[in-house]
Parts: sequence; structure tokens; C-alpha cells
Amino acid sequence: MCGIIGFTGYLEAKNVLLDGLTALEYRGYDSAGIAFFHNSSIRTIKTTGKVSSLRDKVTYATDMNSSCGIGHTRWATHGGVSDTNSHPHTFGRVTLIHNGIIENYHELELELAVLGKHPVSQTDTEIAAMLIDSLYDGDAVAAIKEAIKRLDGAYAFCILFADEPEVIYCLRNGSPLVACHAKEGSVIASDMVALISYSKDYFVLPEMHIARLTKDNITVMDLNDTVITPKMLHVNWDMTAARKGGIRILC
Ligand code: GLU
Repeated sequence: MCGIIGFTGYLEAKNVLLDGLTALEYRGYDSAGIAFFHNSSIRTIKTTGKVSSLRDKVTYATDMNSSCGIGHTRWATHGGVSDTNSHPHTFGRVTLIHNGIIENYHELELELAVLGKHPVSQTDTEIAAMLIDSLYDGDAVAAIKEAIKRLDGAYAFCILFADEPEVIYCLRNGSPLVACHAKEGSVIASDMVALISYSKDYFVLPEMHIARLTKDNITVMDLNDTVITPKMLHVNWDMTAARKGGIRILC
């Protein structure tokens, strides 16, 4: 289970994502990727190897401004290490990143095949993207809630819907996600180290709750659509202390 970062706000999203993935590198990974909205369509750049290799690839996209996107460092569990298997994965209108394992992906893959839907990667993750897309009729929360009923395993997801630019939906079940809202925008990550540049006040996304991130706020709701106020936490360390190794930084 490796790194997740999502950002929507008033900075260049590609840079926020790359810096977040760099902060998360210590967890180990085999490939890295980002997806972001540019002129209301989603662009994805991914590669095997280091975040520095991803950064080189992204350099060629400097003309593509972005203010919302998601980034991932992968530690392959299902499917070999390849550009195709790297995250983010897109199927239809859904683009997502995932930490964890979808235990029943093969059974779901067989069901989706009956509908004529076939993955291009060998990952369990793409099956989750396919499932959510197959359940999506314009209501992102409804599609996610239906998908959860079918997904077995541990997961943290950040999801972009092609027809809802600048918004990120997130969910977790057994894999960590922490989030903060700051003047620069809304940020979510698998570990506080990727948030600390923006805020020392953050919350842990409660399990089986859906977070909707926009530039100006984060809404958290339970599976009955009740909006909740997550408990805010505060850290009293900064990245200098973390780099010295004196802080337990896993959430
Ligand atoms: N199971 C997924 C894959 O193999 C996610 C692995 C991870 O957590 O990085 O792509």
C-alpha cells in the first residue's frame, strides 16, 4: 500500500501532486502517476520507476495548466510493474487511484465481461473503476455507494468523474486517508507528510464515509447521506522534524 495525494484549489495542481508524491516516497513503490483536469478534460501521465521520472514526463506538459488532480505511487499487488498497470486508471467517465487490494476483483471482472466491458490493465484497481463507471448515471455519490456494496477488501480511493471537473471524491475502508482545507485549497493524502506544507490542522477520513473535495471546502458524509463534521487533529511537528526521523508519520 503506497502513496495517495489529491488536490483541488488555487495552486498548479501538477506541482502539488508531484511534491506530495515526493514526500510519500519513503514508503517504497514501483511506479507513479498523476491525473488532472485540463480545460475540463482529464489528462493522465504515469510511469514505472521513480517520482523523478514522472516529474521529467510531466515537464513536457508544462503548457497544461491544472488546478485539480490526483497522484499515486504504486506497490504492485495485482498485475506486474508496467506503465499500463500504474495508477491512475480510467474507465469510461471514472478516473481513480487506489491503495489496497480488491479481493473479489476476478468475480467482478467476469460480471463486467458479460456486459462487454474489459480492462486494459491486469490490476484489481481497474475493475473498481469499471464497476463505479457501470453504476454511474450522473450521481457520483450514488455510484460510489452502490460500488461499495460489491467491493470486498481494503481500499482507499480518490476518484475523478469526467463530467464533474475540479471535484475529487474519496473513500476509505482499512487504508489510511487524511485531509485538510487551507487557503490554497483542499488536500487529501495517505499520510500527513503530504499535507503538512498546507496545514497542521487535519482530519482522518472516517472509514466508510465519502469525502467530496472542492476548491473551497470538504464535505464528509456517511452512507446515509448525512453530512458529518470530522474531528479535527493538530500536529506540532514540521517537515524538518519529520526528515530527522523523530516523528511517527504514518496515520
Ligand atoms: N492493488 C493495487 C495494484 O496492484 C494497488 C496497490 C497499491 O496499494 O499500491 O495496482
